[in-house]
Amino acid sequence: MTDIHPDKDHIASYAALFAEIIIPLALPKNYTWQIPYHLKDKAKTGCRVEVILGKNKKYAGIIKRLHGNKPVAFEPKDILNVLDTEPIVFEQQMKLWEWIAQYYMCSEGEVMAAALPSYFKLSSETILLCNEEYGDDFSALDNDEYIIAEALHIKKELKLAEVQQLLDSSHVYPVIKRLIEKNVCFVWEALKETYRAKKETYIVLNPVYANEDALSELMNNWGRAPKQLELLLSYLHLTKTEGEVTKSALLKKSGASDAQLKGLSEKNILWLEKRAVDRLRYLPLHINVDFSLTSAQQEAYEKLNALFVEKQVCLLHGITSSGKTQIYIKLIEQYVHQGKQVLYLLPEIALTSQIIRRLQKHFGGYIGIYHSKFSQNERIEIWNKIKSGELKIILGARSSLFLPFTDLGLIVVDEEHDTSFKQHDPAPRYNARDSAIYYAGLFEAKILLGSATPSVESYFNASQGKYGIVALNERYGGVDLPAIEIIDTKQIVRKDKSKIILSPQLKEAIEKSLERDKQVILFQNRRGYSPYQICAVCGWIPQCKHCDVSLTYHKLSNKLVCHYCGTIYPNVTTCAACGSYAFVQRNFGTEKIEEYLEETFPKAKIARMDIDSVRGKHAHDSLIQLFEQKRIDILVGTQMVVKGLDFEHVSLVGILDADSLLSFADFRVNERAFQLMEQVSGRAGRKEERGRVLIQVVNTKHPVLHFVQQHDYAAFFRFEIEGRERFFYPPYSRIILITFRHKLKERTSEAAQYFALGLQKELGKYIVGPAEPPVNRVRNQYLMELLLKIPKDTVFINRCKAFIKDQIVLLHQNKKFRSVVIVVNVDAV
Ligand code: ADP
Ligand code: ZN
Ligand code: ZN
Repeated sequence: MTDIHPDKDHIASYAALFAEIIIPLALPKNYTWQIPYHLKDKAKTGCRVEVILGKNKKYAGIIKRLHGNKPVAFEPKDILNVLDTEPIVFEQQMKLWEWIAQYYMCSEGEVMAAALPSYFKLSSETILLCNEEYGDDFSALDNDEYIIAEALHIKKELKLAEVQQLLDSSHVYPVIKRLIEKNVCFVWEALKETYRAKKETYIVLNPVYANEDALSELMNNWGRAPKQLELLLSYLHLTKTEGEVTKSALLKKSGASDAQLKGLSEKNILWLEKRAVDRLRYLPLHINVDFSLTSAQQEAYEKLNALFVEKQVCLLHGITSSGKTQIYIKLIEQYVHQGKQVLYLLPEIALTSQIIRRLQKHFGGYIGIYHSKFSQNERIEIWNKIKSGELKIILGARSSLFLPFTDLGLIVVDEEHDTSFKQHDPAPRYNARDSAIYYAGLFEAKILLGSATPSVESYFNASQGKYGIVALNERYGGVDLPAIEIIDTKQIVRKDKSKIILSPQLKEAIEKSLERDKQVILFQNRRGYSPYQICAVCGWIPQCKHCDVSLTYHKLSNKLVCHYCGTIYPNVTTCAACGSYAFVQRNFGTEKIEEYLEETFPKAKIARMDIDSVRGKHAHDSLIQLFEQKRIDILVGTQMVVKGLDFEHVSLVGILDADSLLSFADFRVNERAFQLMEQVSGRAGRKEERGRVLIQVVNTKHPVLHFVQQHDYAAFFRFEIEGRERFFYPPYSRIILITFRHKLKERTSEAAQYFALGLQKELGKYIVGPAEPPVNRVRNQYLMELLLKIPKDTVFINRCKAFIKDQIVLLHQNKKFRSVVIVVNVDAV
């Protein structure tokens, strides 16, 4: 501070100012720094500041709170710099971070790290990458910026520590910040797969000619090159009908050549712009909701509005293809007209170009798309436009919850039952649906949860009057829900013992569909790989005596294990239901099925959609497009084929092995099975005619099948909620799952035992386990799990969380357990 000479008297009368600062790390709490006199007017809540933590690690942290209370236990250090003139996050967001940290038991810094685009995150470990597109004209840079830009140009990348050496180290971060803003360099994101946005060339009219007079003058005085004039006219015509014009569409429509287009571009009449397809920046800024709701939809829409007067959260329970999305669109329009912002959350995998196109058609440039695979430049662009209020609507996956909304009016959580709203790794292990409810409360915004198969929790909350609920039981166009046939695979005689992939009934149904030029979806559960025992005669599956879950078969030990409480059972030899001795182990995957189908239907075009066949977002999208365009006859897939897709020509859906759905070692087995079967059925016969669904199953008596066959969610719920109450599972309790990880098996299980013992006195009756999970070794680390089923009393839950935290500290103080990793997952699903 030697270079600053403030008035001595001022400093003397300056009441010391301190700041609680969030650092993007897993720290036990936020630390305090002092604001030196010369920065006191610049330091604002929500601004980034440069601080030193520990010996000399530098970070860009965020000021959470300014105050005058000098810490007693230590002498706070000064912050080095204030990086932003305006806050980059608002108070509501920091409140959300705080809530998530408290609720999901992590640090605010971890939430910050997840919430901010890496553009904003600077630390000594940050690596800067040269932006080749910037070129080597550094005339717009000042001295310091120039030094770094030149070094980057030569070395291509620099660690922040190296930058520090190049510059006088007291003002490194502001320089870097400016370089990033000027697009000279990027922040490197570790472990992010690089996502190349699909680019397309768009044609834009030079805005000079947006003026009618200027345009007619241009055309009236057109000299030679009549072909170019024709091309221009084609362009003008296309913009009227299409809005956005791509180069390929224009050339096709006009029959013009590349050279003619180039001519117009050289005359600076038309501009050619390469743009990512996902972010059509120049979509028209107007809203065009040009359809009307059916009377059933209109009624649901009005009911929702009436309920929202009193309820903050409403559940729209509408059967598949009832037009939930159309209702969302009307509601969104209503809120945007009030000047409010809207967040539309979808599970990542359901965020396809299908839904994007559907919404862009109505909301044009007012809607932004936000997605974990976007580059940081794209993210920062959306970030800024939400913050400035320019964007009114965001369609995004769970992380879009963290965008800096200023005036949120409505959050739509579509497919609200979907488990991928919950992040499992790394922290924050938050559920975006539940966090959205808290977040909306800060804005007094409304939340609409929508699903054809609501989560048991949400439906329970609705049945208790906590949420409003509206049902929509009619499909658009009056098409009936598909007819569901259960195929008892026990009845099928086969010579060898091999597993049946297609029953004769399903095979015949597929043939019929193909003959009629209709499409088929075959569903095989991804987790069909996890092995279980099933009675070959009656379909009985061994269950745990204490947990009401199916047992998992461990091949090596030839034992059955309850993944919930850890109880080990000898392998069964006689069926408890029918006394038979015949048992089979079940699992078969999509790949094998695909092969089999190719042999069986040599003329059909077959494609597989699962995690392995679909790498990256575009692969998924293009498969969907191929299917939409009827260039695939049979689509075999996992969960992926289920998510909210709207296909016109699917007449038949086959569920190949329903037993695998009915046998998850999970208390949610029934809920998941019902949701999956109902959702996958919903893909059949959405337009035109009633679809058909064939379910192949051994365990034909399973009650869930009955509910699916009747399409009766309410009956399913009544059945399910009773079991949840009896076994004290959510929604009657809250679940906290604690996982222990270490490379030594012994050490892991000792740590889990020790931990459980520590909690025993206070929480004894709520502890389940410790037990080994079905997959007990991941990346050479052994796993043990401890489950807590805690009564839903906020005070008590907070006490539990405090016990758990204390226990973690205690365990780690023990030298033996220091290297055991403990992961706490609140509301683990
Ligand atoms: P859901 O979201 O409930 O599964 P969708 O909103 O996808 O249902 O509607 C199913 C199909 O019916 C879509 O293709 C949609 O465009 C069409 N549709 C539904 N309601 C209307 C409506 N009121 N006007 C025009 N098309 C509609
Ligand atoms: Zn049996
Ligand atoms: Zn058990």
